[in-house]
Amino acid sequence: MAASRALFLDRDGVINHDSGYTSDVENFRFIDGIFDVCRAAKKMGYLLIVITNQAGIGRGYYSEQDFSILTKWMCDQFESEGASIRDVFYCPYHPEDGIGHYKKDSFDRKPNPGMLLHAAEKHELDLNTSIMIGDKSSDMQSANQAGVGIRCHFLSGVNNDVVSDVATHQISTLQDSISLLAKSVFDINNAARTAVKAG
Ligand SMILES: [Mg+2]
Repeated sequence: MAASRALFLDRDGVINHDSGYTSDVENFRFIDGIFDVCRAAKKMGYLLIVITNQAGIGRGYYSEQDFSILTKWMCDQFESEGASIRDVFYCPYHPEDGIGHYKKDSFDRKPNPGMLLHAAEKHELDLNTSIMIGDKSSDMQSANQAGVGIRCHFLSGVNNDVVSDVATHQISTLQDSISLLAKSVFDINNAARTAVKAG
């Protein structure tokens, strides 16, 4: 079976406005265009996978149960928008500020690539033809280390991050990523056709 490709989404600052340690439905506001992007990606055959650092858990701001309640609600919203999320990976650890067993320098915590590598193994993904959208340099670094081919840095102007030197693309609205997805699919299909001709 051919490997699948994924659209990896950071959560805070990509799916929802990053108001700092968002932990409940009342404070969770979707960013304009996220459902359009996800519907388009799904139609093009991408699996939708969320990759999120959640050190708020490790810091004791909210519990894993709070996170799981919010995640279930979030996934229901995507489902009803016709863009169901295949999986959600999160890292609750923090190397300095984690409390108890949450104080840990985790290979899963972005900018490390652990979560992406676990996702690739679990869902048999081709990382080279997969895409990551994130609003921080750490998202781009994580994707680069994992071998995700298209690393899309979303700089909406809300945060002051500068474009990462390992990003392959920069976008200022989420909708801008739809043409990237389409071009990537076109390139993949083109390469496949060329390979068939050559054979
Ligand atoms: Mg973020």
